Amino acid sequence: MERQIYADNAATTQMSQRVLEAMLPHLMGEYGNPSSIYGLGRSARMAVETAREQAAAVLGCLPGEIYFTSCGSESDNWAIKGVAEKMAEKGKKHIITSAFEHHAVLHTCKHLEKLGWQVTYLPVGSEGIVNPADVESAIREDTALVTIMYANNEIGTVQPIPEIGAVCKAHGVYFHTDAVQAVGHVAINVKEQNIDLLSLSGHKIHAPKGVGILYMKNGIGLPNFIDGGGQERNKRAGTENVASIVGLGKALEEANFQMGPRNSRVLAMRDKLIDGLLAIPRTRLNGSREHRLPGNVNISFEGVEGESLLLMLDLKGICASSGSACTSGSLDPSHVLLALGLPHEIAHGSLRLSINEWNTPEDIDYILQVVPEIITKLRAMSPLWERICKEEAN
Ligand code: PLP
Repeated sequence: MERQIYADNAATTQMSQRVLEAMLPHLMGEYGNPSSIYGLGRSARMAVETAREQAAAVLGCLPGEIYFTSCGSESDNWAIKGVAEKMAEKGKKHIITSAFEHHAVLHTCKHLEKLGWQVTYLPVGSEGIVNPADVESAIREDTALVTIMYANNEIGTVQPIPEIGAVCKAHGVYFHTDAVQAVGHVAINVKEQNIDLLSLSGHKIHAPKGVGILYMKNGIGLPNFIDGGGQERNKRAGTENVASIVGLGKALEEANFQMGPRNSRVLAMRDKLIDGLLAIPRTRLNGSREHRLPGNVNISFEGVEGESLLLMLDLKGICASSGSACTSGSLDPSHVLLALGLPHEIAHGSLRLSINEWNTPEDIDYILQVVPEIITKLRAMSPLWERICKEEAN
């Protein structure tokens, strides 16, 4: 059988066996509606509430502050549009975010701009870190919300969330963080870190796709995002996706279990990858090495086109992702890499490898054998590389 190495865990993860086993009864025999009063319904309700407790224990909040949603994008939309709707009544009309947020946040902010909101997009510097002092200077009388991601999905940089939380608390401004990439890799405690709203998604932590959470601090009381039935304490209508919610609870519990030892193992593999790839001439690591998720590698190779690199890696059985906005089908370089100040042609030649605890040291050796060979081949065909070499010679 051909070798396949999955190194795109920031895109999605494989479901874990234990998550699947926890879910299976709720896809078959335990099919009741959690709102029904008979036994079958009550056991579905119990399963949902157990998952809520598991999630609350991981985030350091009360179970009543957990709302199940359909995905990370929904949680981001609800948090941002919800605060906007609530705070507009108080005359607020300003939001602070960063230039390199996920599109679930950026496009939501753009939508609000069309409705008359003003949005400040903070710079992230060449290291890909938001400066809490910049957040503080951007806060105005009419600021309703600060929304800054916990960890970036492309370059894996981890933001100074407790410091930003403290700034927001001091100024009485709501603080939302998109923690979709951080959960399970970084110790999160919403109370200690002064987080008012937090989004997470199941499929990045070995739960199924199509389930997420919005943590909403007690007392915030955002308007409903989906109107209808009384599910999620009248806040988010729609019959609960019981099996997926059970899977998410289990996945969160697993992700939090032995996070330290698991991170150390992944970190060792990541560092070997980074060092090995940086040994290729004219490459650079994108984003801070120090403040970085344990499994994230994002490297630019001068004179190389990201899409070709991905196709050649695919032929060798390696699943990875590039710094181009491939989701939109456009050839524009990613807004994240441009926010770091990378020139277009360098941003184009970027590779993201996102590994996790299921990768092995043999996977890393294989990647380190294959990538330099491909870079050499691509550069041999690249007019851009030829120009770089000529310039270097002069
Ligand atoms: N936010 C971040 C940082 C992400 O990486 C993603 C997914 O890639 C999302 C939000 C959206 O999550 P979902 O796919 O569950 O909608």
